Amino acid sequence: MSQVRNDPKCPLCWANGKLAGGRVLAETGDMFAYVFTDEAGGLKYALIIPKEHHADMASLPYYWGDEFGVLYTAVLSLMSDQQPHNGYWNAGYVAGQRVMGHWHVRVEPRQAGQPASDMGLNLLLTKYNTVTERLARIAEQCSDAATTAELRKLLAL
Ligand SMILES: [Zn+2]
Repeated sequence: MSQVRNDPKCPLCWANGKLAGGRVLAETGDMFAYVFTDEAGGLKYALIIPKEHHADMASLPYYWGDEFGVLYTAVLSLMSDQQPHNGYWNAGYVAGQRVMGHWHVRVEPRQAGQPASDMGLNLLLTKYNTVTERLARIAEQCSDAATTAELRKLLAL
């Protein structure tokens, strides 16, 4: 019998039962889908997670893709046929990963004009959008500046 990979402090390890605020949508032998829904039952986002503690997909059992497909299909059943969505994982803090040490995929429905969720890839997009908006405001103020002195004051030079 192989030893179960578990980190007692990990919020994603199946054996710890620490996930809260959502529900298990489906499970396979080695993975599960955990979903968070709004008051109307619409999908806010889902996590597809190995039950055991795996830092990355490289250590998953060879058949994990089959199980992932079953769970991804279950998550898709909560969305309309044409619902755009992101499905992604982040490897490392700089890449937007915030739950460290336990590989997982996040599936998140998207709509036009929907603000980023501040998690994973969307965390990075939010920071990019904030910087871009700030630069656009500065550029607008600079174009309105009539003199070099006003421009220096705007840019705090
Ligand atoms: Zn874990």
